[in-house]
Amino acid sequence: MIDLHNHSVFSMDSNTPMEDNIKVAIDKNLKYLSITDHMEIMKPKDKYWESLDAPGYFVEFNRLKEKYKDDIHLLAGVEVGIQESTAKVVEDFVNEFDYDFVIGSVHCLFEKDLYGGGYYQRLKPKELYKTYYEEMYKSVKAMKNFDVLGHIDYIDRYLDNYFDVPDQDENKEIILAILKELIDTNRGIEINTGGFRKGLPYLHPHRKILSWYRELGGEIITIGSDAHKSYDIGYKNKKALDYVKSFGFTGVYVFENRRPRKLEF
Ligand SMILES: [Zn+2]
Ligand SMILES: [Zn+2]
Repeated sequence: MIDLHNHSVFSMDSNTPMEDNIKVAIDKNLKYLSITDHMEIMKPKDKYWESLDAPGYFVEFNRLKEKYKDDIHLLAGVEVGIQESTAKVVEDFVNEFDYDFVIGSVHCLFEKDLYGGGYYQRLKPKELYKTYYEEMYKSVKAMKNFDVLGHIDYIDRYLDNYFDVPDQDENKEIILAILKELIDTNRGIEINTGGFRKGLPYLHPHRKILSWYRELGGEIITIGSDAHKSYDIGYKNKKALDYVKSFGFTGVYVFENRRPRKLEF
């Protein structure tokens, strides 16, 4: 049991003490936990510390890592927002700190929040999705310094009705290009169980995308709850593992010092 994606009080959108996440993880018998607070800048001129107190994160993380060293493997993590325009700044940020694990996620398009930026109102799903995946491709090409791409089909979470989610085949070509770029650069993807909490009937990514990843020879997969509250730590972990197994993958990965290690099933 692992949870390599969750948030604590160091994220703007969570007020959960880091220690609470750790206690729940131990209670649920998780072996690995990476607390991946947000570092999200919208524009290249934005300063990372306005989003994340990274030095403060490490002080608290290191204290807790020592305190719970006999109970759980704690991995220092971060979820960085990626865009083509901010690639250099985000890259520098990642290089500045000693993270074990870095998730790259697309939360913004054209320097505006995907959800708050009005895109869902202004664009029809077909056009929105095409734009989203095209920008994701540019982002993963421009910013290579992360380990797994977070919640690939995150965009599905905020449509009023998931029946409006365009068939993944409509964007197959660009999604394949994204997956290929990740595989070619030894990066992976994550199974993110947070979509379930947002009312989606599936885990991220949708099974079509996961099957394409498998067909292309993708191997690196992590699992995360995207918890912003401690009680969601490890959410649907077993379901995520079964999901991965059902495609023929033979394990999932954890990262220490930015190096992947496979946990065989
Ligand atoms: Zn995210
Ligand atoms: Zn997250």
